Amino acid sequence: MWALSGARLADGSAADVVVDGERIARIGPGAAAGVPEVLDCSGRLVLPAFIDGHVHLDKVLIRDELGEHDGTLRGAIEAIHERKRRYSFEDVRDRARAVIEESVRQGTTRLRSHVDVDTIGKLVPLEGVLAAASDCADIADVQTIAFPQEGLLRDPGAYELMEAALELGAHVVGGMPHWEADEAAQREHVRLCFDLAQRFDRDIDMHVDETDDGGVRTLEMVADEALARGYTGRVTAGHVCSLAAAGEEYSARVIDKCARAAISVAANPVTNLVLQGRGDRGLIRRGTTRIAELRAAGVNIMFGQDCVKDGFYPFGRGSMLEVALISAHAAHLTTRDDIAYALRAITDAPALAMRLSDYGLAAGMRADLMVMPAASWEEVLRLQLPPESVWFKGRLVAESSVTSVLYH
Ligand SMILES: [Zn+2]
Repeated sequence: MWALSGARLADGSAADVVVDGERIARIGPGAAAGVPEVLDCSGRLVLPAFIDGHVHLDKVLIRDELGEHDGTLRGAIEAIHERKRRYSFEDVRDRARAVIEESVRQGTTRLRSHVDVDTIGKLVPLEGVLAAASDCADIADVQTIAFPQEGLLRDPGAYELMEAALELGAHVVGGMPHWEADEAAQREHVRLCFDLAQRFDRDIDMHVDETDDGGVRTLEMVADEALARGYTGRVTAGHVCSLAAAGEEYSARVIDKCARAAISVAANPVTNLVLQGRGDRGLIRRGTTRIAELRAAGVNIMFGQDCVKDGFYPFGRGSMLEVALISAHAAHLTTRDDIAYALRAITDAPALAMRLSDYGLAAGMRADLMVMPAASWEEVLRLQLPPESVWFKGRLVAESSVTSVLYH
């Protein structure tokens, strides 16, 4: 048993945190009394470790090997094809592992990764990411989502590969209905994903409407299907960009359906800020979904890293602090409440979407936590300070320090 004493929590209160094995034993003022091994935090902030609920580990770090393209989603998907054909098990494993390790240094100990499942890469991306997850099982938990990046109907054979991926160990059913050729095919894509999820008893996490075209409305198909099948609280919709371009009437209706189906939304402003609005001149659309309206309706919203130096996005370093800061800019999050909301979007919100029952700073929860080098979340977010110490299941897994000297 060991403890952190004199810690500051995100709500500003002071507390000690006592850890017993893999769990938090108790938390509160004076809780460390009598514990033999105590680390004094001297008023520094203690947070639960971050969660990256939407990342693509199979594609990370391939940017330098791709040809240049027009910067759009379609351009990126096509630019990756050639590289995807050359994926090897070791190549995917090494790249995914590097980003998982960097994420842990930056305070993220749980990740949920989409992994392409299609007739180009077949199951190689999934095998590589599962191996990286296994390599890193001592420092992080990595879930995988079987993601039919090239569509289900427009990529014959992908459905059978999705079945094989779930049998191989993918945790969640992915999807990308708006990528299909027409509305009927989109509806069929959604139906097939729900069929798979029900058959394998898995949650669903789809890429939904990642386009500026307000006429693309597969979010409503997903919400209708979830409501019709009673699949409430088990579905996440990622990106949802076209909702921002759609009219008020449709938006209000579909947001209400999302709330009723307890659909979580993974807004990924970091990538969509550079990917969307490419054809606009003058006032350029931001590509970020309707975060304010979804939030007001009580829809659970998380922020994800999405991409790290791949065909879609040249930046990213597995830092959810950076993701929170960029997302706060995209979503106009500047009040105290808003800034607290940005923390929620990289902690409790992905935990809820992933239905984690052992997450958070509370007695009985898993001891995935960190000490930050400042007294408040506002300061940590503003100054982008990496965690001093990160624990995974009660074990110290990363330490960082930043030094700088000014000669005045
Ligand atoms: Zn994505």
